Amino acid sequence: MTPAEILAQYGPREAMDYDVVVVGGGPGGLATAIRLKQLAAAKGSEISVVVLEKGSEPGAHILSGAVMDPQAITELFPNWQELGAPLKQPVTGDEVLFLSETGATSTPQWLIPACFHNHGNYVISLGAVTKWLGEQAEALGVEIFPGFAAAEVVYTDDGSAVKGIATGNLGIGKDGVPNDSFQLGMALLGKYTVFAEGSRGNLGKQLIAKFKLDEGCDPQSYALGIKELWEVPADKARPGHVVHTAGWPMNSETYGGGFLYHLEGNKITLGFVTGLDYKNPWLSPFEEMQRWKTHPAIRAHLEGAKRIGYGARAITAGGLLSLPKTVFPGGALVGCDAGYLNAARIKGSHAAIKTGMLAADAAFEAITAGRQHDELVAYPAAFEQSWLHAELNQSRNFKQWFKKGSTVGTLMTGIEQWLLPKLGMKSPPWTIHRTVADHNTLRTAAESPKIDYPKPDGKLTFDRLSSVFISNTNHEENQPAHLTLKDASVPVAINLATYAGPESRYCPAGVYEYVTTDAGAGVETTRLQINAQNCVHCKTCDIKDPTQNIVWVTPEGGGGPNYAGM
Ligand SMILES: Cc1cc2nc3c(=O)[nH]c(=O)nc-3n(C[C@H](O)[C@H](O)[C@H](O)COP(=O)(O)OP(=O)(O)OC[C@H]3O[C@@H](n4cnc5c(N)ncnc54)[C@H](O)[C@@H]3O)c2cc1C
Ligand code: SF4
Repeated sequence: MTPAEILAQYGPREAMDYDVVVVGGGPGGLATAIRLKQLAAAKGSEISVVVLEKGSEPGAHILSGAVMDPQAITELFPNWQELGAPLKQPVTGDEVLFLSETGATSTPQWLIPACFHNHGNYVISLGAVTKWLGEQAEALGVEIFPGFAAAEVVYTDDGSAVKGIATGNLGIGKDGVPNDSFQLGMALLGKYTVFAEGSRGNLGKQLIAKFKLDEGCDPQSYALGIKELWEVPADKARPGHVVHTAGWPMNSETYGGGFLYHLEGNKITLGFVTGLDYKNPWLSPFEEMQRWKTHPAIRAHLEGAKRIGYGARAITAGGLLSLPKTVFPGGALVGCDAGYLNAARIKGSHAAIKTGMLAADAAFEAITAGRQHDELVAYPAAFEQSWLHAELNQSRNFKQWFKKGSTVGTLMTGIEQWLLPKLGMKSPPWTIHRTVADHNTLRTAAESPKIDYPKPDGKLTFDRLSSVFISNTNHEENQPAHLTLKDASVPVAINLATYAGPESRYCPAGVYEYVTTDAGAGVETTRLQINAQNCVHCKTCDIKDPTQNIVWVTPEGGGGPNYAGM
């Protein structure tokens, strides 16, 4: 049965009314909810706010670096230190390395643009910070529903405005038919609904299309970040030390770089970010990340260490020029659902918190004035006046320069972010636009060099399945697939035939496998097998599939990774 048939037979849905419904309990969504409650408390008024989070608890689906710029969290909670926020480890040292296959050149500190310096920032687990934000939100009276995915946008009868969301149905079998544990999803209705689903939000994507929010913008641009958490011997720990790398193993036409941060408690968080505008379909971001760890400059940090965590997540990296309109009748997009991350700094957590606060300010003012379901125009207006806008404006050309190759990228970033500020120019006087979406950048397999990746050694480098295992990923098996194909014939006919099946390489969880079986009478057939239960919700397939035939939809709430301290 289709969701519409289920609703027709078992509906109508039970509905609950709130002032504001927030989709996504990450830093952006929780900052929205917290700010609304703070504003109401300051005015002595009441506001009802609910946050839906598809992970089993706030933080369970959060995958980040992370070095946090504390500017926004300090605006949200000036006394965060007193409140015990898990920002415990200040950055103590900053290295930027340009890697060749065996060597590493360190950039002198005086040449590193001010915006790339991490002095004053904190090495954190964003999962832990998110969990803490969830506790603060609940203490202020926010209702948080963990384990509930917003599966559908609910519109006003004439379809002109958003009036809330519907949670996914529970207890639907693989065949789409309700089983004994069936429960129809609920409608959560709000005067305003704020979407904070993070990168490539499932509902955010639909809203951008319906309200044409990206009209006139450059196509959005993404990267895939793959991360591991390691426990290191005490004598190898350098708490607060931060390393960023450029160069090897990427070639000059492929955008990517590594990060390695020493946390407190003898832990290292490290990972590799690959631009999803890569061209060679033989490239595997997972294997690039494994290979990167074998570089002497990285391997040296991991001697005697043990890997304890793994995960992956897309990064919305298009910046200001790809930023869609962030408001529509009845709601707003905040954080990475909109695309506020600063790719030059690989930092988006401060931007998510800041934009959540700005959207909350606008929603509070509107509700206080008796409005509902209209456009919160005060939110984008406030963003344009904010420090975040100035920050993103300075780095608006960053990814476009790197599209012209790493040499041009490095040179122009140096000019825009080091030289021009020294000459008193806060943002570059020129603008470089991007015209091609990430799913359109692949060359054919035949015209691309095949890449041979080394086999994992099980100590420093690993395979995908043992990696997914430590992400604690789990989905209820008896449910409709949450990775759907618009046309089941396309993977073999186009993706395999033309691009040698790139989904089997770009998925960091080994979800996609081309399987050849004997169909009898000596005939072999090949099909795409989708191991959906391994999916870590990174959204790469939804972004990079060259035919845009793969559609990621929310599985039953609570399914997916259960990251600890990522
Ligand atoms: C590898 C990597 C390294 C990074 N390094 C840094 C760094 O060093 N510093 C930094 O500041 N930033 C870094 N970032 C970026 C940072 O993680 C993001 O900018 C930030 O997490 C965005 O916050 P958000 O609240 O917008 O989205 P998210 O953090 O993605 O949170 C979204 C939440 O919404 C939930 N959700 C999504 N859809 C639904 C739905 N339909 N229903 C219910 N719940 C839903 C998700 O489960 C999730 O909990 C990094 C990102 C990656 C991937
Ligand atoms: S199936 Fe798609 S969303 Fe899931 S892990 Fe693989 S690439 Fe990411």
